[in-house]
Formats: sequence, structure tokens, C-alpha cells
Amino acid sequence: MATISIDRDRCVTCGLCIEVCDWHVLDTDSDDTRVEAIRPDDCTLCRLCEDGCYESAIRVSR
Ligand code: SF4
Ligand code: SF4
Repeated sequence: MATISIDRDRCVTCGLCIEVCDWHVLDTDSDDTRVEAIRPDDCTLCRLCEDGCYESAIRVSR
């Protein structure tokens, strides 16, 4: 299973990582204030979210 780390200090909750993930691994929490990995089991480690994050706030690893 992938480990998905989101740096809360860097993340601006722009939502880009949520949009690029076709596997719907990421979403905002119920308050719409933080990005969370809601389906980490479905992560393919494609790293599209990492590549797209201009704040370098998300990291995916095995
Ligand atoms: S793309 Fe980066 S800054 Fe934007 S919501 Fe995702 S982790 Fe946060
Ligand atoms: S690495 Fe790919 S599958 Fe995993 S959360 Fe990021 S965009 Fe989604």
C-alpha cells in the first residue's frame, strides 16, 4: 500500500492533486479545509499528484 504524505504547512488546498488523481484516492475532509488520502489502497503510485503540486506539498512512497 502507498504512503501518501501531505505537508500541512505547504498545502494551500488548491485541489489540483484531487483533480489529477483518476483513482479518486484524494479528497478534502468534511470541512473542505484539508486534503486527505481517503482511498490509499487504490493508489497506483503514478505520482501525478506529486508532479502537479506546485507547492511540493504531497509525497507518495511505498
Ligand atoms: S496540489 Fe498540493 S497544494 Fe494543492 S491541494 Fe494538493 S497537496 Fe495541497
Ligand atoms: S500517486 Fe497517482 S494514484 Fe496515487 S494518489 Fe497520487 S495521483 Fe492518485
